[in-house]
Amino acid sequence: METIGHFVNGAAAACESGRARPVFDPATGEQTAEVGLATDAEVDAAVAAAAAAFGEWRETSLAARTKLMFAFRNLVEAKAGEIAARLTAEHGKVRSDALGEVARGLENIEYACGLADLLKGSFNSQASSGVDVYTVRQPLGVVAGITPFNFPAMVPLWMIPNAVACGNTFVLKPSERDPSAPRLLAELFAEAGFPPGVLNVVNGDKTAVDRLLTHPGVAAVSFVGSTPIARYVYETGTAAGKRVQALGGAKNHMVVLPDADINLAADAAVSAAYGSAGERCMAVSVVVAVGECADPLVDAIKVRIDKLRIGPGDDPDSEMGPLITREHRDRVASYIGAGEREGAAVVVDGRDAAFDGDGFFLGVSLLDRVTADMSVYCDEIFGPVLCVVRVDSYHEAVGLIEDNPWGNGAAVFTRDGGAARQFQLDADAGMVGINVPIPVPVGYHSFGGWKSSLFGDTHMYGPEGVHFFTKAKAVTARWPEPADSSVDLGFPRNR
Ligand code: NAD
Repeated sequence: METIGHFVNGAAAACESGRARPVFDPATGEQTAEVGLATDAEVDAAVAAAAAAFGEWRETSLAARTKLMFAFRNLVEAKAGEIAARLTAEHGKVRSDALGEVARGLENIEYACGLADLLKGSFNSQASSGVDVYTVRQPLGVVAGITPFNFPAMVPLWMIPNAVACGNTFVLKPSERDPSAPRLLAELFAEAGFPPGVLNVVNGDKTAVDRLLTHPGVAAVSFVGSTPIARYVYETGTAAGKRVQALGGAKNHMVVLPDADINLAADAAVSAAYGSAGERCMAVSVVVAVGECADPLVDAIKVRIDKLRIGPGDDPDSEMGPLITREHRDRVASYIGAGEREGAAVVVDGRDAAFDGDGFFLGVSLLDRVTADMSVYCDEIFGPVLCVVRVDSYHEAVGLIEDNPWGNGAAVFTRDGGAARQFQLDADAGMVGINVPIPVPVGYHSFGGWKSSLFGDTHMYGPEGVHFFTKAKAVTARWPEPADSSVDLGFPRNR
């Protein structure tokens, strides 16, 4: 069985720790590979490779960096099918979701192809007599990315293109559950012509993360994962003097107002709650039905659930695949019983669905009449379980979002422009959708939640990503008369 090792200094590097973790095909439940778990020394070797590459990389011209980024972009596009196949094989998501993930990652590479424009800095002529002031943005040095299992290609691409375009060198620690897609990205990066050491991948668990968080050679850490680990990464990394952005979990609300198009809202709720088996940080997990729309909305969602096809991700007929592991599937299933015991109405019970084989499948669930004190509402379930909370007014709906500890995304469905406009002002979340259930910003805006969904103050990718991966330097310049000013150039100096 293959042991997936590291990728350091432009080449494969075996993992020598003797520690490994199984990688599964979630659709069959079978182990397909194992991934090595790095020692401190292996992390140190990756950081050393990145540090050795930094001096030359930061001096590489913007034109040369741009050409390499375009080459990488073209390789990722050409290999989109192969990357997607790896995503399906280890994460389980269906082919269309996997291709969509690659497409969203490509957006971030394309944004970074404009690096020359992004790194222009700013300039004031004549701030004082004969004095100019300008700000340049310089790279930080070696930066690290630590990423979750649910978007093994896209989330690394939220970080790597901007970080590298800005002149940094990078060490990626991907999720140990689905390491093959990020590994392929690193190979394509090298094939594009980036010098060895500019991007390195170390596989590992807490040991590798802790070493990166405290390594004196790492200047910044970009993290995406669950809230408890995001908090830990932020606290540990900043205590070690690093710049840290740590994106955490979510509980995203979709508010449906009484005037909404019920069919549009039901379609949106089903795709946003159950797509990728609910394992998306921007998944809708709570529908807040305001007033009289609740009954028709629940009926319309149920009709659609009955038609949903669940099966292996590589089957073109499947609309939803399995969950990531058996343990996670069982944990998600346990919430359906918990919701029932706490008083929710189980409209559709995912445990009733039968599947052949040992894959980590679970049917989708719809829980109605959920209240804010139930565990199904309070916890991030991260699976195909959609809760419906019924409220009487817009203000109650907005209050629920405000009281929730997470604040990643929030959406409203309405035909009323004034209500939509008010919602985008009121919603206590970092990303808002108006008749759009999953408002993940395009690559030229930035992605980030509020409250327990983000530790740090800089959002991911787009302009805020460039900001995160650079430090500003303000230069105040005066050019005095040269000591030997016998040569008259014919203009008055220091006007
Ligand atoms: P996770 O927090 O378990 O793992 C994320 C990373 O942290 C992995 O690389 C993992 O190896 C590492 N890690 C795990 N436990 C650790 C520990 N004790 N110490 C140090 N490092 C540790 O998250 P996951 O299960 O891979 O991903 C799902 C979570 O990520 C969900 O909560 C989801 O909402 C969140 N997520 C958030 C966003 C966002 O943009 N806010 C995006 C994607 C996923």
